[in-house]
Amino acid sequence: MKCKFEGCTRPVKNKGYCVGHYTQQHRGQQLRPLREYNRTPYKDEEGKVCTKCGEYRTWDLYYNNPRKEGAKHSRCSVCWPRYRNLTT
Ligand SMILES: [Zn+2]
Ligand SMILES: [Zn+2]
Repeated sequence: MKCKFEGCTRPVKNKGYCVGHYTQQHRGQQLRPLREYNRTPYKDEEGKVCTKCGEYRTWDLYYNNPRKEGAKHSRCSVCWPRYRNLTT
């Protein structure tokens, strides 16, 4: 289940809102998109921001993390030259 705020893809935490939007609502603030002041690396269903280059890239540009089932590396494939050399 997703947050009620339009365009927000975060999972619901409380009263139909994600943590961020619930907090905004709880404080009586106007609800805004969270992305612009999100400090942690941005991530959604389509992809995330690479921790190395800071670019938003889709999941197909991330390699699976062999140490963690279902997880991806925090760096995109562009930032992994040794992998890139193997695949091109
Ligand atoms: Zn939300
Ligand atoms: Zn990168």
